[in-house]
Amino acid sequence: MDKNISICDFCGVEDTEKNPVISGDKSSICKTCAKSAYEIIEGHQKGDTMELVEKKLESNTEETTTEQKILTPKEMKSILDEYVIGQEKAKKVLSVAVYNHYKRVFRSKEKNDDIELTKANVLLIGPTGSGKTLLAQTIAKYIDVPFAIADATSLTEAGYVGDDVENIVTRLIQAADGDIKKAETGIIFIDEVDKVARMSENRSITRDVSGEGVQQALLKIIEGSTINVPPKGGRKHPNAEAISIDTTNILFICGGAFDGLTDVIGKRQGGNTLGFNQDKKTKEEREGILDLVEADDIMKYGLIPELIGRLHMITTLQEIDEEAMIHILTEPKNALTKQYKKLFSMDDVTLKFDKASLKEIAAKASTRKTGARGLRAILEDVMLDIMYELPEYSNKTVTITKDVITKTKKPKIA
Ligand code: ADP
Repeated sequence: MDKNISICDFCGVEDTEKNPVISGDKSSICKTCAKSAYEIIEGHQKGDTMELVEKKLESNTEETTTEQKILTPKEMKSILDEYVIGQEKAKKVLSVAVYNHYKRVFRSKEKNDDIELTKANVLLIGPTGSGKTLLAQTIAKYIDVPFAIADATSLTEAGYVGDDVENIVTRLIQAADGDIKKAETGIIFIDEVDKVARMSENRSITRDVSGEGVQQALLKIIEGSTINVPPKGGRKHPNAEAISIDTTNILFICGGAFDGLTDVIGKRQGGNTLGFNQDKKTKEEREGILDLVEADDIMKYGLIPELIGRLHMITTLQEIDEEAMIHILTEPKNALTKQYKKLFSMDDVTLKFDKASLKEIAAKASTRKTGARGLRAILEDVMLDIMYELPEYSNKTVTITKDVITKTKKPKIA
């Protein structure tokens, strides 16, 4: 090897014109690694938003695409079916919402009339671990508009410690690679929106007053207005130039568990028979009540009426029962058992789960009250020891039984 060629001490590449290596007295670094190091130090690995926006404006080559491959609601729903078990109503509502979003954003000028298509944001109400985020993530994967996810619990109104509401929009601009026009047609999912409910009648939850401030701030971006967002997504750079963005065409999907909402609905329905003592009700009874939800109930729960007024489509998701959990473990395209089988096959090991083992995992997860979210933790726990020894089982079949899940026996290896 030519001794004069500099080599990057971090990644080992040789000096090239495209990626020059800078050498100091004792070490060398290439342009790519230097850039990564800078980004890590600055704490914005995704890239400086302002830089992205400037780059986009400079290049000005790619026109924001106005011709999109629009998925029909049925196509969208069948994609959701591959990943999300059950939740038929929510899937339908979201498929239609996304379809209408496309039409409103990309095709509304086709008809030469004065009718304006207003956007219909969506509110998903369902228990923890029932698939709200999964639905939003799956949509994001398949549609050609930028998508950002935010958690309402981390939001605070400007001036308080926490995440400014505007930062959600900054994240969308980042997802659009700095293309403001593209970001203006994007979709934002705000999870745990029920947690910013202000304290209201008959609910013992005391929330700090900033709950309402956050709602007001959310309202501003949801109802559609031109706002200035910090380019770096925070208040640490007060002198940075703000980016102006119009949120009129951004579609918002909000999600929340709204614990105790059945009590509010039951009370409106007038009586002890329906709503109270929800713990004593069957799953079907609780879901039946939740299906009757009206905007008024959500207002009583503590969301401000103006915000509810902007969430036109309200839909509910069902609690995941043990049977649904077994389906979730085995059926979706990237079901957990399929993932483990793939991992095992890489060591030439065949992995099998018998029926009783799946039932036991589902039963264990149900007791955790975190919906399908608990499945992964349970499986990871029991699979750890087996994975540790996996390379030794090459060309064998490992069968997971109920006793493996209860940790009373080791898996069968044949
Ligand atoms: P939520 O947002 O409603 O609290 P998530 O969508 O984050 O719940 O669900 C957590 C995990 O549980 C998901 O990543 C997924 O693996 C699984 N899960 C939950 N609901 C479903 C469902 N209906 N179908 C398939 N998997 C699900």
